[in-house]
Amino acid sequence: MRGASIGARVIWVLAVLGAVALLISTAPRAQGQDAPRAQTTASLRADAGFQQFLLGLWPEAKAVGVSRATFDAALRGLDAPDRSLPDLVLAGKPKTDSSGQAEFTRPPDKYLDKVYLEKLAVEGRQLLVRHKAALDRIEAEIGVDRYSVLAIWGRETAFGKHKLPHDAIAVLATQAYLGRRKELFRAELIAAMKMLESGVARADMRASWAGAVGLTQFMPTEYFLHAYDLDRDGKTDIFRSVPDALASAARQLQGKGWVRGQSWGIEVALPPNGDCAYEGPLQSRTLGDWAKLGFKRAAGQPFSAKDLASEAYLMSPAGGYGPSFLVFENYKVIRKYNTSDLYAVFVGHLADRIAGGGDFAARWGGTGPQNTRVIEQIQEQLKAKGFDVEKIDGKIGSNTRKVIGTYQRANRLKVDCWPSNAVLDHLHGRASIQ
Ligand code: CA
Repeated sequence: MRGASIGARVIWVLAVLGAVALLISTAPRAQGQDAPRAQTTASLRADAGFQQFLLGLWPEAKAVGVSRATFDAALRGLDAPDRSLPDLVLAGKPKTDSSGQAEFTRPPDKYLDKVYLEKLAVEGRQLLVRHKAALDRIEAEIGVDRYSVLAIWGRETAFGKHKLPHDAIAVLATQAYLGRRKELFRAELIAAMKMLESGVARADMRASWAGAVGLTQFMPTEYFLHAYDLDRDGKTDIFRSVPDALASAARQLQGKGWVRGQSWGIEVALPPNGDCAYEGPLQSRTLGDWAKLGFKRAAGQPFSAKDLASEAYLMSPAGGYGPSFLVFENYKVIRKYNTSDLYAVFVGHLADRIAGGGDFAARWGGTGPQNTRVIEQIQEQLKAKGFDVEKIDGKIGSNTRKVIGTYQRANRLKVDCWPSNAVLDHLHGRASIQ
């Protein structure tokens, strides 16, 4: 949701820089077009509807304690929405567009880039030493392990090195006006104004395309729920204070249900009769039961006895073309920080690496770029044939992989749980379910 990944940011920084005409596209975009949009100078004109919309937020802002001076200052200069942002509902482009989210557009082997992960792990191990005192206190006071906290920071802003490309207020105002999730962003915009009212400087409110701010990328509403003054200087500074930012991230994980002392997941080797069609939270069982089915730790040694009673579900982010994991409750918690399997695997694996762990046991295969339209059509076809498709959204998640695997198994195809053109062709060509 925060769209905070480095890849996404890089893509959008490049897109924005490349589009010298600056902000806004008024040209309808072709269906299925992934590339950044055509820009027109007409877009630089003020948008009266947008300004009207923003002024109409005053009663809500006032109700949460925002002063008129802060409100006016926040909206000054916001003449038109930034149509270059992803996930907007624009004329001629009615479908969901999450092309800014690297988690859903980059193939697993690229998103989980080996060299980048190792670089972050090396840096993370140095930061373990540098921030030992703060990390000790985070574990004691909040109960989230130091490796996971550092991994969130590494994933979100490359340990503070990544420069966030957008003004948060402009992003949130645009998403509240034109976004696919207007109500959510409206609440975030009001909360962002409240942050300004509480003394956060506008210059600090730099954001990803989805409006997350600070070293560990907080949505403004989360800031008010979880921000934490670990260094006890009387200010909660998620922009400059590493102790505060890390503790705030830990509190956010804690607030989403973090289980103290539990890992995120274990890479496993599948038994001959167990494939990726076993995937997903609906097929969750205890690790002991998975062991009885023949699932083993990929690295060889047996599962540890303390984990055997823990509930886990199978998760194969690249279908049959990469590692499979049995994931625990804390995996779901990381996923609530950013709803993507690749994101959660990245963070969990980076945490393991910072703690001294090695590379994945299985290789990530080259699944190629993901085509939103192909995935969407596969989802539509499977749903029409009576399969249990949760959402037609063009994204690959556990449910989509599992349903594809179930279809492949039922049709005696090779089970790879991956939305390929071959699956789509088969769906178009033959109509039997079972
Ligand atoms: Ca502080």
